[in-house]
Amino acid sequence: MTFTELGLNQDILKAIEEQGYTQPTPIQEQAIPIVLDKHDILAAAQTGTGKTAAFTLPLLDTLSKKKSTVKEKHYVKALVLTPTRELASQVAENIEAYSRYLPLKSAVIFGGVGINPQKAILRKGVDIVIATPGRLLDLVGQKCIDLSRVEFFVLDEADRMLDMGFIHDMKKIIAIIPKHRQTLLFSATFSDEIKKLSEGLLNNAKIVEVERRNASSNQVSQVVHYVNKDTKKHLLSHLISEGKWNQVLVFTRTKHGANKLAEFLNKEGITAAAIHGNKSQGARTKALSNFKSKDIRVLVATDIAARGIDIALLPHVVNFELPNVSEDYVHRIGRTGRAGNEGVAMSLVCSDEYFFLTDIEKLIKKSIDVVPVEGFTLPKLAKPNIQKKTNERSNNRAKNKPNNDSNSRSRSRTNSSPEKNKVESKNKTNIKFPEKKRVSKNDESKSLISKWENEVKKQKDNETKNPRNTRNRRITNASKTR
Ligand code: AMP
Repeated sequence: MTFTELGLNQDILKAIEEQGYTQPTPIQEQAIPIVLDKHDILAAAQTGTGKTAAFTLPLLDTLSKKKSTVKEKHYVKALVLTPTRELASQVAENIEAYSRYLPLKSAVIFGGVGINPQKAILRKGVDIVIATPGRLLDLVGQKCIDLSRVEFFVLDEADRMLDMGFIHDMKKIIAIIPKHRQTLLFSATFSDEIKKLSEGLLNNAKIVEVERRNASSNQVSQVVHYVNKDTKKHLLSHLISEGKWNQVLVFTRTKHGANKLAEFLNKEGITAAAIHGNKSQGARTKALSNFKSKDIRVLVATDIAARGIDIALLPHVVNFELPNVSEDYVHRIGRTGRAGNEGVAMSLVCSDEYFFLTDIEKLIKKSIDVVPVEGFTLPKLAKPNIQKKTNERSNNRAKNKPNNDSNSRSRSRTNSSPEKNKVESKNKTNIKFPEKKRVSKNDESKSLISKWENEVKKQKDNETKNPRNTRNRRITNASKTR
């Protein structure tokens, strides 16, 4: 299928040709006709699949038709909500590129930068607004933006939006915009929360599901290095120097960890910058642009700060620390191997992270190759103290990640074959969500499981009694990084 066959107008075709796109990605092939047909859509697609163009191109096509018949001043007709500033900028850049031959204006709105320039742009009138929820509500409160005529409402990375505690802001925004509108909801996963959200938000939506770009993607080779915690930074420095890598995105779990690692690498003569929520927006933008232009070799990022980082041909992603939420691993490695290019994702794993690794492997349904590096790595990982790990793992569960599959603790190497990266479009009028897959328990792990389940229960009881529970802590941390 070609973009022309999808029925997009000439000005859009010209713009996407200039982007170098020769044919639609699977999500685009499925979603564009549905949106052009004026249906609501619920799309399960991760970043890196071409999802931005999947919602933007038909939206622009529809709006540009209106613009040519109704000669009106610009007013907000489309609102795109994203969880992070970086993603908002990224989406805005794409919209600008795709709409360069159209008489449509767009504006990006997010916090951490001055509000007055944003007000000035809005005063002049725009057709499309790409925003993070907090700053948008500020502007609504100050009556600087009128959302009463929104025709398209796009929720991008809705799952991440919920994870970051934006549900109340989202509800406020949904209450302001017209009920009669076209809603496009994009999420990497169909969790129960997403299901609940979409039921109240979408009308006769069609579902489009692109299978996860995880381990099944041949574009990203994944490897694990077993290593002592204290050796990690030396191994990273060695890998970068020996491999002569000149553009590597490194993930740490904490902001402090990101700063320390960037400092260490700089001392080693490897140019690096850290990007996280405690950095000013100016510093974040500068670090990202220096990284994109290859003025620095390493960008050390926390998960939330890294959302929306889209660098064509980014060859290397390193998990300096594994995420404690398995799905973040999939988001992280999705930074490489984009748009048909190949990439390598490396994870430096110490024994503390043993269970994070087994959880990740179960989520992606394959085991990751363990590769030794002489003089740095360990032949195998020592199994950590189970009680300690149980507590950390129950934190993850408290965060409502799908975790039915944490039944076996053994590092199975023959779990299941990789899923095929195929697209299923389920053009149904009623939303019916795919069944969750379960992994059967094996005898060995049963007693361990009941231990964990007790722990989870204890943890949940604790959370009810104690307001400073894990989930709240995570949300607060996430909010701080916004
Ligand atoms: P996204 O999933 O929207 O973050 O897009 C991931 C990357 O794929 C971006 O760099 C896009 O510019 C690129 N892209 C989107 N659609 C296409 C396409 N049809 N052909 C080639 N690259 C694309």
